[in-house]
Amino acid sequence: CGIVGYVGPQQAQGVVVEGLRRLEYRGYDSAGIALVVHDAAGGTLAMEKRAGKLANLEKAIADRPLPESTTGIGHTRWATHGAPNDVNAHPHTGGSRRVALVHNGIIENFAALRGRIEADDHVMLSETDTEVAAQLLELQVESGVDLTTAMQRICRQLEGAFTLVAVDSQDPDRVVAARRSSPLVVGLGDGENFLGSDVSAFIEHTREAMELGQDQVVTITRDAVEVTDFDGNPSDGKRYTVTWDLSA
Ligand code: GLU
Repeated sequence: CGIVGYVGPQQAQGVVVEGLRRLEYRGYDSAGIALVVHDAAGGTLAMEKRAGKLANLEKAIADRPLPESTTGIGHTRWATHGAPNDVNAHPHTGGSRRVALVHNGIIENFAALRGRIEADDHVMLSETDTEVAAQLLELQVESGVDLTTAMQRICRQLEGAFTLVAVDSQDPDRVVAARRSSPLVVGLGDGENFLGSDVSAFIEHTREAMELGQDQVVTITRDAVEVTDFDGNPSDGKRYTVTWDLSA
């Protein structure tokens, strides 16, 4: 239901949890976060997700602190496929826990895709429609393409309405998102960039925003924002300045 993404110099955990807090007004039944942690091997994922209020997630993180990280994604879920429990909460990963993905919306053809993934001997952990996107994305990056290309490829296979945001632990300084019939906004910072299901996800940090169009993929790093269509052709979003009065 609510989505946040961040890459920059700040601790991503704080930015992501604060963004989820600002998106609480939309309603939700679970919350989760994934961080990409640099290490000698290139990077690993650190994840926590909990059914219930954001306070449950914050308590879990307080009990078992997440490592430092400057790249992260977060989600508040409004369950459509699968009960609101810890396993079905987002983020979801592939079998080798290399990529983490969050999703707003519904993937209509998930049953067919799930059948194909399971026929290939991959085990699904959750009851969600979302996990098929995470599994497919991970299979793509493991085949050797980068996360942006992987996202374009899986979006061409998905039917329905979706905002997807993902990280690849082997590519720690990039967050990739996509949208079809579900909202996605980029927050343009100075040496940092944000993603949100709406601008409240990052309004404390920047008022410069870019709205994505239908069937677009966006890649953010600290210093760049690149938009393409689902076929990889260069494209652009619509830039604007958020004029709300935060104190109102
Ligand atoms: N369909 C997904 C699920 O049930 C995403 C729901 C949402 O938009 O939060 O997990």
